[in-house]
Amino acid sequence: ARHLFTDPAEIEALRGNLLAWYDRCKRDLPWRTLAATELDADRRAYAVWVSEIMLQQTQQVATVIDYYNRWMQKWPTLQALAQASLEEVNELWAGLGYYSRGKRLQEAARKVVSELAGQMPRTAEDLQKLLPGVGRYTAGAIASISYGQATGVVDGNVIRVLCRLRCIGADSSSPAVIDRLWDMANALVDGSRPGDFNQALMELGATVCVPKAPLCGECPVKQHCRARRRVEKELAFASQKLLGKAAPVLDVEDCGVGGCPLCPPATEPWDSSLGVTNFPRKAAKKQPRVVQMATCVLERRGCHGAPEYLIVQRPNSGLLAGFWEFPSIPLAQGLQEKQREVLADHLQAWTGQPMAAGGLRFIGEVVHIFSHIHQTYVVYSLPLDGDVTLDPALSPSRWVTEEEFHASAVSTAMKKV
Ligand code: SF4
Repeated sequence: ARHLFTDPAEIEALRGNLLAWYDRCKRDLPWRTLAATELDADRRAYAVWVSEIMLQQTQQVATVIDYYNRWMQKWPTLQALAQASLEEVNELWAGLGYYSRGKRLQEAARKVVSELAGQMPRTAEDLQKLLPGVGRYTAGAIASISYGQATGVVDGNVIRVLCRLRCIGADSSSPAVIDRLWDMANALVDGSRPGDFNQALMELGATVCVPKAPLCGECPVKQHCRARRRVEKELAFASQKLLGKAAPVLDVEDCGVGGCPLCPPATEPWDSSLGVTNFPRKAAKKQPRVVQMATCVLERRGCHGAPEYLIVQRPNSGLLAGFWEFPSIPLAQGLQEKQREVLADHLQAWTGQPMAAGGLRFIGEVVHIFSHIHQTYVVYSLPLDGDVTLDPALSPSRWVTEEEFHASAVSTAMKKV
């Protein structure tokens, strides 16, 4: 019970303090302005949806604002997005990361238009069930902010705030802890202003209860925070000791020895030097997969004398679906020694003419970390003297100038190359 909110008066006070702070201090973000002024609930939902999916890619709100504004300018409604091509979506999404999310957003828009008569589902349950790419968090955010459903949300910011408020030190990525946090978020959400309450909790995590140096002194819910209370008790205890007064027993409100599924594990107890940042805790991350690719920047003189580069399109499913790249091939174990030959064979398949492996000039290596893959591109260049006719029977490929390359749907990794 120590980790839960059980006192209705405390819950009421926490809601009031948090909402009053949010009304005073919330950041002015474009999707909030639209959500507040736009009369059509479905258009509001669309705006919230786009912003939430983009915000999941990065904590850099300034980056998201730029992408969001360009997206909404191009596709102001679900109906407009449903008519876009994957190519256009990828072009706009390029650089934001987690590329499949833009694609799924567009697939979901098509589904709403073609299968749901243009009507967005209006509850978190239906949103999650019916729309591809909409998980529990996004569904809760859309339903509470746009349709006023009293349902909570749990994202990284909310996890941090709740774990600190209630001294939850068990692995915050474990299903058992996540389930309890969802229960807590659903119990705390304010029935009359659910969207504002959820945004306030996330805003608190983003601007005050931040990961490394939280601003506890300015926190609107500090009187409800058990992590902070523990820090204060330790400080009081230490100063009593310093003054030589009879030190009271340090009452830290621990659940007791062992057995609590939400307390820090016995092997990693509370560390006084960390203060409130003892929480949340995460199990060590799984090591990303290591992949090596050989890639070639094939160059020719274009008709106006400017250099042009060959880019080819990836398949429409899998990593970076539909994105364009310099011809690249994974280097399996044992092929590292023969990478020039492997790459030359691969280029021959694209260009339809033999490529001399010896002509490939090694340029350097580029490392790019995708969410779960540690990828190294071994980069070669090959200038061509004559022209090359691309085989239209193969997957799409084209020659582009440097300017056209940057305007194409290419990933950040390829821009680095
Ligand atoms: Fe976070 Fe500090 Fe506020 Fe507690 S008091 S919720 S640790 S900012």
